[in-house]
Amino acid sequence: MSELHKFLFDGLPVRGIVVRLTDTWTEILRRRASNSNDGAYAVPVREMLGEMVAAATLMQSNIKFDGSLTLQIAGDGPVKLAVVEVQPDLALRATASVTAVVAPTATLSEMVNASNQGRCAITLDPKTKFPGQQPYQGVVPLFDDQGQPIERLSAVLEHYMLQSEQLDTTLVLAANDSVAAGVLIQRLPMQGENNLAGSMVAKENEDQIGVNEDYNRIAILASSLKREELLTLDVDTILHRLFWEEQITRFEPLQGDSAPRFSCACSRERVGKMIVALGQDEAASILAERPDIEVACEFCGVQYRFDPVDAAQLFTAPVQMVPGGTEPH
Ligand SMILES: [Zn+2]
Repeated sequence: MSELHKFLFDGLPVRGIVVRLTDTWTEILRRRASNSNDGAYAVPVREMLGEMVAAATLMQSNIKFDGSLTLQIAGDGPVKLAVVEVQPDLALRATASVTAVVAPTATLSEMVNASNQGRCAITLDPKTKFPGQQPYQGVVPLFDDQGQPIERLSAVLEHYMLQSEQLDTTLVLAANDSVAAGVLIQRLPMQGENNLAGSMVAKENEDQIGVNEDYNRIAILASSLKREELLTLDVDTILHRLFWEEQITRFEPLQGDSAPRFSCACSRERVGKMIVALGQDEAASILAERPDIEVACEFCGVQYRFDPVDAAQLFTAPVQMVPGGTEPH
């Protein structure tokens, strides 16, 4: 089952999170694979989207923010868009729009940054906004300062974290067809409730970028984690293998009911209401041309089908069973 673990390095300005998404991730893949138009993701797309799902979950759980976090790549290659949305309670959904064949060996830049026009955006949308307030958005390029394409999603996001929070961050990400997992290691800000040295100010905090020896040592340990290890080992084993020489304090893990989980607002009932709102004539004209009315959810890819019998039921059902959305306009 999916799980998320937070921990602190005792006496050091460093914290970490490990996430392992299993049922949550396979549900995302299952919905997409069940879509008869789009079909399952090609392996490189699956690995990219899985890494995005793990990263977005780590980023959402790393901030104190009451709203959704959306990690999005708008690509200029065969993958036009890949999106992950994570709520504060770690309910999440994800999808990718693929418009051309993706080679089995395609790299990140071949998929989303073929002409260096690809962009990665992180959007924080507060649950309660004052009038006119826009969501916060940070955009990072998929190429480095020398204009070279970046081939690891983790490097793109580490760059974003350094820009947006002025904090060194190390991410290790991996995904296959059954697990999407990640490790986040971050240097703690020297202010606020995690204050370890009360007198540090923002400027001094910034001066710590790249030079904090404790963080650098732990970051190197974290980076030594192999993709296969991250995908196959349990969290206890990963933490022991990486940090057995460090003193760490672990928090109560999020698992079971509090674990990250798949959630999409779509339902057969909602689609039924939509068809009723279209009207009986329109529904009949669709069914004259094809065996069923088929509506796919754009956020998770699952398809809802209504054959003529289902459709007839929608229009003959008592009014109280199809509430709302039926007023003529
Ligand atoms: Zn959906």
